[in-house]
Amino acid sequence: MSELNSKYVTGLGASRGVAIGKSFIYENEVNFNNPAKLSCLEATKTLIIKFDNQIVAFEKENRKDEADVLQAYILILQDPEILSQFETVDQNSVESVFNVFEETASLFQNMDDEYFKQRAEDILSVGKHLVFCMQQIDKSVSLESETILIASDLTPADTSSMELHKVNGIVLKEGGYTSHAVIVAKNLGIPCVIGVKEKLDSLESNKHLAIDGSTGEIYIDPTADEEKNLLNKQIEHKKIIDSFSKEKYETLGLTYRVNIGSNEEISSFEHPFLNSIGLFRSEFIYLDSETAPDLEQQTNVINNIGDKFSGTIVYRTLDIGGDKQVNYLNLPKEENPFLGVRGIRLSLANKSLFESQIKSILNSNCVDRIKIMFPMISTVPDFLESKEFVEQIASEMNIASPPLGIMVETPSSVFLVDKFVEIVDFISIGTNDLTQYIMAADRGNSHLTKYQDSLSPAVLRAISKVIDTGNANNIEVSVCGEMASDPISAFALYVLGLTTFSMSPAAAPFVFNKIVKNQNLDKSDLKHKILNASNYKEVREILNSETS
Ligand code: PEP
Ligand code: MG
Repeated sequence: MSELNSKYVTGLGASRGVAIGKSFIYENEVNFNNPAKLSCLEATKTLIIKFDNQIVAFEKENRKDEADVLQAYILILQDPEILSQFETVDQNSVESVFNVFEETASLFQNMDDEYFKQRAEDILSVGKHLVFCMQQIDKSVSLESETILIASDLTPADTSSMELHKVNGIVLKEGGYTSHAVIVAKNLGIPCVIGVKEKLDSLESNKHLAIDGSTGEIYIDPTADEEKNLLNKQIEHKKIIDSFSKEKYETLGLTYRVNIGSNEEISSFEHPFLNSIGLFRSEFIYLDSETAPDLEQQTNVINNIGDKFSGTIVYRTLDIGGDKQVNYLNLPKEENPFLGVRGIRLSLANKSLFESQIKSILNSNCVDRIKIMFPMISTVPDFLESKEFVEQIASEMNIASPPLGIMVETPSSVFLVDKFVEIVDFISIGTNDLTQYIMAADRGNSHLTKYQDSLSPAVLRAISKVIDTGNANNIEVSVCGEMASDPISAFALYVLGLTTFSMSPAAAPFVFNKIVKNQNLDKSDLKHKILNASNYKEVREILNSETS
């Protein structure tokens, strides 16, 4: 950066868009020097009432995910284990009370499982709220309009007391792509940058800031030129979104579907012409629950999506295991869960769970538009057993079996694709897992980024084989991994002959724009070049230099 430019730091872009405004540092760290004004038991009662009121307000606004988190916070406050520990400490010492939460959280933190690690954060967050309540410190803030909110991370209890319509942008020191604050930001269309760590520690409130939620760039005191560039980018973005019209999109002859994976995404989804789901990640129905959901609860969720989406619904059966665990299943701990009993392997080992999921699909009022997709298929017998299982239930219910397909996300299913096209009704490539398994690189490990790019030629060759085999045998092939949501990678898929894409709804205009602009390039020449590159950087260079 030249001296003419402002101070500039980068984090990770988590919610697209540009925001300009004044910084507001939201402190939610506890200060033990402030004495308690309420005992921990008095504060617990007060906090439960406060959370209850916030839940009612969230429900009125259809903010179900946030209401659920607060419900979980109440359960933590009522947890007998925590309450019994209160009896052993000085109930008027904020430090001792907070220690109870810290110790409980560290037990969870030390577990290998991501799910339990996440619970550790919830427990600490409840501890902080309880301490603030004991100290009678009101964490609700009064924001000026056009605020760029800077925080370590934000819980639903934090965001519930904020006037988010005054927030132009959010910057988080911590936070993951699927953390609460990012989901809220995306739903509300607020640009968001995460993972800035200590880079903004010296920043004060009321500083002029500009952020780019796509690239993760943050400008402190941006120059007029920098602001202008960002605003131009914003205008460009808006143009791309506005130009995503049904007429133009239909001329490409492609099919765009969306990925859905939570109640919040169902309720916030609105689009004039995208109306199909290419990947329904059904896990949330089971993960969000303390006990196995009954048939009616499962069917209700499907009826809900049927009401919202008028087109095809590709319903993926449970993909539990790996990094996603469900308490009530009491699954044994595995050394290598991503290589363990996950996806279809788990369904086939838990037939009653599998049966209730299939029945809920067959019972739903949109069953005639549903295609059932099995995750983590690695052998022909696993597919045949699943197919027979579904067909048996369908025949008992006197109903036609929906089309049955597989996710190709293991190397073995790529090598066997010529066998699969003879027996499946469709294929969807899960490039997130396929990349992880082909490159032998854990998809969640941030030290392995150079092995995690789905544009690696080894991954492209696998995808190309699947697309060619599917196309030659008239079997629909789609891609539902994140690759289809990234414009340049999605263009690579188009070059390889893909015609059905499933992506996050917000990505669709950008993917569409890239393909429309470059549709007349020589696809077979580009295909040859990217498949013969020697690494993902070369592939990106080829695509960047040859496309606009
Ligand atoms: C994938 O693996 O690409 C995929 C779409 O499934 P998930 O990300 O849910 O594992
Ligand atoms: Mg997967």
